[in-house]
This record gives sequence, structure tokens and C-alpha cells, in this order.
Amino acid sequence: MTALFLIAGIIVIAAFRYKGEIQEGYGAVVRSTGPIRSKVVPMPPAYREILTKYFPYYNRLTVNDKSRFEQKLCYIIYSKVFIPRNFDGVTDEMKVLIAATAVQLTFGLNGVYLSHFRRILIYPNDYYSSITKNFHKGEVNPAFGMIVLSWRSFVLSYLKPNPDGVNLGIHEMAHALRLENIIRNDEYQFFNEGLLNQLDAYGHKVCSIQDHEQVRFFRPYACANTHEFFAVAIENFFERPTQLYHEMPGLYNVLCALLNQNPAIYSSNA
Ligand SMILES: [Zn+2]
Repeated sequence: MTALFLIAGIIVIAAFRYKGEIQEGYGAVVRSTGPIRSKVVPMPPAYREILTKYFPYYNRLTVNDKSRFEQKLCYIIYSKVFIPRNFDGVTDEMKVLIAATAVQLTFGLNGVYLSHFRRILIYPNDYYSSITKNFHKGEVNPAFGMIVLSWRSFVLSYLKPNPDGVNLGIHEMAHALRLENIIRNDEYQFFNEGLLNQLDAYGHKVCSIQDHEQVRFFRPYACANTHEFFAVAIENFFERPTQLYHEMPGLYNVLCALLNQNPAIYSSNA
């Protein structure tokens, strides 16, 4: 009898000691079923309500495309970990709208789910970085497979009355997308290299001194480097596609081909 108590005691102590790892292991098993669950289990009605209420991109899709969007959304929600930082729990609204932004960017790219970026770290507000000594709205950390977002800034990007080509969620997802393309996993090299080179060449041209007029359409930060030009161009592509097409049709067409979609044809932002 004493031996039994002893064994039970050891199991309880071990369970407490490795609670974190057990939870993480359980979470990993649950996430690994995400792709299957997203195919066989219908999307929760609460998710549809959130999309319909807050996500214009989804509302403009055809019935068939809506169902494709929903499946990809569930795949992303079920296979990633959403981590709250400095607040209690991640809400369905947070998960759905952040995942919806990832779906928006990758909607034309079959089999691309930003799978390297398994962790989404959410701060309630802009957060202070002790490394840069600045407040940040978001960042992408490929070493930790993590996308970091300030929820306040994420939401404000969607609440503004007029699109201005600035959208935190799209910006950070664009950085993640470009990095995902060069990470050796199942999603490796989904971009057409020639198109990506054309896009970078556009960036150099637009940011060069003789074409400085054009860069005013983009905010100056677009010219910080190739990665920032890529992210800002994609923000504008989705936020104000018609204007981008009129300003820089060549760049717009390269983005359409690269992302395999054309937001101008289903945008009300004419
Ligand atoms: Zn950036």
C-alpha cells in the first residue's frame, strides 16, 4: 500500500513538474490535426459573424470563394498558437481577424499557410522594446517562428474611414510571407523568382532620386530597404488597389501575378 502511495506521489510530482511540457505536447498534437479539422468540421458560426461584421475583403467574395476563405481561415487558426501578452485571454475576434489577414494575402497561393510562423504574440497596445528603446506596433521574428502584433494598432488599421495604404496586419503578414518563401519547408519557394525580381527592380526605380515624385504615393519608409518596399507595396495593393493601379500599373500587375489575385476587381475602393 505504501509503495502504491509512493508511486502515485511520484506521478503527481512528475506531472506538476512537467506540466508545461505536457500542455505544450498536447497543444502540438491538437495543432497537428488542424489541417484535417479545417476540412471536415464546418467553421464555427461565431467566426462567420466576425468576418461578416468586420472584414470587407471576405464580404466581397463569391459564395464559393467565401467557403475556400473559411477553410483556409480555420486551417490557420487551428494550426497556430495565439499567445496573449500583458492581458488574459485571446478572443475569437482576435484570432479570426488576424488569421483573416493571413488568408487575404495568401488567398491566391495554394498550399501557403505561413506555416513557419506558428506563434502569434499579441500585445493589447504598442509595446516597448528594451532592445531598440522604442515603442513597436508589430514585428516578425523568423528565429522564433513568431509574428508579434499590437492589437490596438491592428484594429485601428481596419477602423479608419478612408484607406491610406497603411495597415499593420497586412504589413507584418507581408514580411512573414516573403520570409516564408525562403524557409526550407513544405511551402518553400512558392513565389515566381522572376516576378519577385521585377518587384524589387520596381522598388529600386521608384525609390531612386529621378523617380522621387512617385514615392510620395508610398510613405517614405517604403524606401528603407527591399523588404519594406515589398510590405508597403502589398499594403497599398490591398488597401487602395485602384489608386495603385492608376499610379503604377506595371507594379500593380506584377503584384497581381505574384499573389495570384486582383483586389481591384472586387474592391469598392474605386
Ligand atoms: Zn516593416
